[in-house]
Amino acid sequence: MMTAADIHILGGGPAGLATGYFAKKQHLDFVIFEASDQVGGNCRTLQLDGFRFDTGAHRFHDKDPEVTAEVKLLLGDDLLRVDAPSEIYYEEKYYRFPLSLSDLVDKLETKTLLRIVLDKLRISNRKQTNNFKELAVNTYGKTLAERFLLNYSEKLWGQPTDQLSTAISGNRLKGLNLRSFLRSAVFGTPQNPPHLDGSFYYPKYGIGTIPDRLCESIGNDRIQYNHSVSRIIHKGDRIDRVVLNDDRTVDVNIVINTLPLTLSLRFLEPAPPPELRSIANTIKYRHLILCVYCLNRDSFSSNASVYFPDAEFPFTRLYEPKNRSRSMAPEGQTVIVLEIPCFRENAVWNMSDNALQDATWQALCRVKPLALDEIIHYRTYRLPFAYPVLEVGYEDNVKQLLDYFEQFENLYLTGRSSLFRYLHLHDLFKSGKDVIEQIVRV
Ligand SMILES: Cc1cc2nc3c(=O)[nH]c(=O)nc-3n(C[C@H](O)[C@H](O)[C@H](O)COP(=O)(O)OP(=O)(O)OC[C@H]3O[C@@H](n4cnc5c(N)ncnc54)[C@H](O)[C@@H]3O)c2cc1C
Repeated sequence: MMTAADIHILGGGPAGLATGYFAKKQHLDFVIFEASDQVGGNCRTLQLDGFRFDTGAHRFHDKDPEVTAEVKLLLGDDLLRVDAPSEIYYEEKYYRFPLSLSDLVDKLETKTLLRIVLDKLRISNRKQTNNFKELAVNTYGKTLAERFLLNYSEKLWGQPTDQLSTAISGNRLKGLNLRSFLRSAVFGTPQNPPHLDGSFYYPKYGIGTIPDRLCESIGNDRIQYNHSVSRIIHKGDRIDRVVLNDDRTVDVNIVINTLPLTLSLRFLEPAPPPELRSIANTIKYRHLILCVYCLNRDSFSSNASVYFPDAEFPFTRLYEPKNRSRSMAPEGQTVIVLEIPCFRENAVWNMSDNALQDATWQALCRVKPLALDEIIHYRTYRLPFAYPVLEVGYEDNVKQLLDYFEQFENLYLTGRSSLFRYLHLHDLFKSGKDVIEQIVRV
């Protein structure tokens, strides 16, 4: 039996680290149990020789001034302001993303533009939208939604879009203004707002610098690596102990849990009521495969990210780290990362690295001709629990599970997979701070 710290944090991803960071500021005694031998979870920067790349295309969103100030403090000059556009690749053309008026007018045929205008006239602003498909069609009209959004979302989330919640949009669907659109289409006057979405913060050496700096700040000795939580034992209305690696039991005082909601439910002992276990079986996480090509060429594209809505491409997104920071690849060379979302039971999750390379290389060469001898390295990585799948009605199911955990007075939940919410780094900082303030107040 180990002695208990004041607080035990389960998981050393950004949520666990951010919580530890604020716990340290409050002079609280805490320890983080992390299953793997590294921190950062799904927000790491990996390295192969001189090539760096993140676990999926990341950027730091400047959404919460307090959090941004904290991240600037942690990173100093290593936090860059980046200006890099993103595009959609569809039927052999690149379209600006987010969709822009002048760009669509430049690239689409007249008959498609007319359909878009007719769609816009049919849109009712007051229409209640019950799912993502309705939201996308109501925001952009059927033609644009089908061409760029519905097919992409179905690939990303693995569900028909009329079964997906409007929450997957993250409030990012802005629509196009019909008057501006017509002015642009008829008179050729560009009416684009400045390209704000292409401007963001990014660490010089990759997004993983943020969890790494959090880890340095809280002290590496606070983290117990290779300590996988295997059981969470409760007694009355408290969490009493946690079991690590199936054989070490730790008494706990306060527990902050960042582990996926479904896993946590499975770890509970005694087990939760069968109806809750049935609910847990209905909620899903999307996993992600990364196919990484280190190439002996200076550049593949000038985009931060390229999106692939078409089903003929096995990947949804391509990202080229060097377009965020030049320090991500050696001089004269580049690295590109292709993302393939899937469920664990899909055959692709278990495909061999060679088969994945074959499937992605052929598709990649359709985007830009490449020679096999340009490949310096190829690697595959698998990221479990990348996205909670927000299906229509998920809120009620998730609430029932979260309510069950709320009965434990010494347990707090934070983190993307734990809260089953589409959270980003700035949210995790905020949530970590809130949890610690709650604990200090008690
Ligand atoms: C492809 C992709 C792109 C993204 N882009 C952005 C972006 O642009 N901007 C942004 O702000 N955010 C982005 N995010 C979100 C961000 O990376 C996640 O929100 C973040 O990683 C979630 O952090 P977390 O700590 O909640 O969970 P995770 O990162 O999943 O960390 C969980 C940790 O718990 C550990 N663990 C698991 N099981 C156990 C166990 N049994 N015992 C102990 N430890 C365990 C894991 O090893 C891991 O370290 C993106 C995420 C993905 C996947």
